[in-house]
Amino acid sequence: MKALITGGAGFIGSHLAEDLLDAGHQVFVIDDLSTGSIDNIEHLKKHRGFNYTIDTILNSPVLAELVDRCDIVFHLAAAVGVMLIVESPVRTIETNIKGTEAVLLHANKKKKKVVLASTSEVYGKSKQKAFKEDGDLILGSTTKGRWSYACSKAIDEFLALAYWKEKKLPVVIARLFNIVGPRQTGRYGMVVPRFVKQALLGNPITVFGNGKQSRCFTHVKDAVRALIELSAKDKAVGEVVNLGSDDEITIGNLAKKVKSAVKSESEIQLIPYDKAYEEGFEDMLRRVPDLSKIKKLIRYKPKYSLKDILKDTIEYYKGR
Ligand code: UDP
Repeated sequence: MKALITGGAGFIGSHLAEDLLDAGHQVFVIDDLSTGSIDNIEHLKKHRGFNYTIDTILNSPVLAELVDRCDIVFHLAAAVGVMLIVESPVRTIETNIKGTEAVLLHANKKKKKVVLASTSEVYGKSKQKAFKEDGDLILGSTTKGRWSYACSKAIDEFLALAYWKEKKLPVVIARLFNIVGPRQTGRYGMVVPRFVKQALLGNPITVFGNGKQSRCFTHVKDAVRALIELSAKDKAVGEVVNLGSDDEITIGNLAKKVKSAVKSESEIQLIPYDKAYEEGFEDMLRRVPDLSKIKKLIRYKPKYSLKDILKDTIEYYKGR
């Protein structure tokens, strides 16, 4: 199989490229290096089945040519990270919406399957104990920049589903829940690489809010394996599927675990949301996926625990 990965030099995209190559597939990557990095794919360049293009997916002729050459598109190119989203809302909205429009438009010409990476962020402030794919999305006001990310990804989902319903373009939508591991950067706000780096450097570990908010973290290796399996399942076509873990931890406890795993002397510091992000910032208190759908589709079971995730992330940052 020939797979095109948009955003293939990013954190998740580069792991996906690696696994597809290991499985004997040919991989084409397009990435504009806005948040991805050439370092992430350096080790893949020697692989015979690996091809990469440094360009934006908004360069229509380039994208069209790549889509034509491939059998399937994994669309991962997007604005990522809560800090980036708050700081660059125009870029977030434009990248997410125009990029997905372009990918679907070109894929539809020759009916190439599209696997769209969406996000658990779309559930917003839902108060459900565990988020189900057909549950309501509860987003905040348009005056709060954070929600532009959820909203733009929700539009991407609507558009992909519309292409499936109206034009029979095969699409699979995966809502990713806090995917973490080696190569993820803390530059755009992601908590695990930030805590690991802070702990290794002996700097304060910055817990935003009161630290009682919780998340469920998934190793990137589990996530990409599931994406590949979903991409091959006929029953996943036209579906929205949660992809993550339901092993919940508060951010305050995560800070303690990172500190102890690194054997760090760092203090744990509470920072109000207004200072961390912007005035009036809204966070989600909990975010837990209902995994029944993905379990049914591909018998999904994450292999890696939070302990493994922290070990791998710590090793990666020590190596740098
Ligand atoms: N967070 C934190 N300290 C940091 C970075 C993030 O306490 O240095 C918190 C953040 O406010 C959120 C959680 O960690 O409650 C997860 O943040 P992340 O940006 O990794 O993902 P999100 O779930 O918000 O998309």
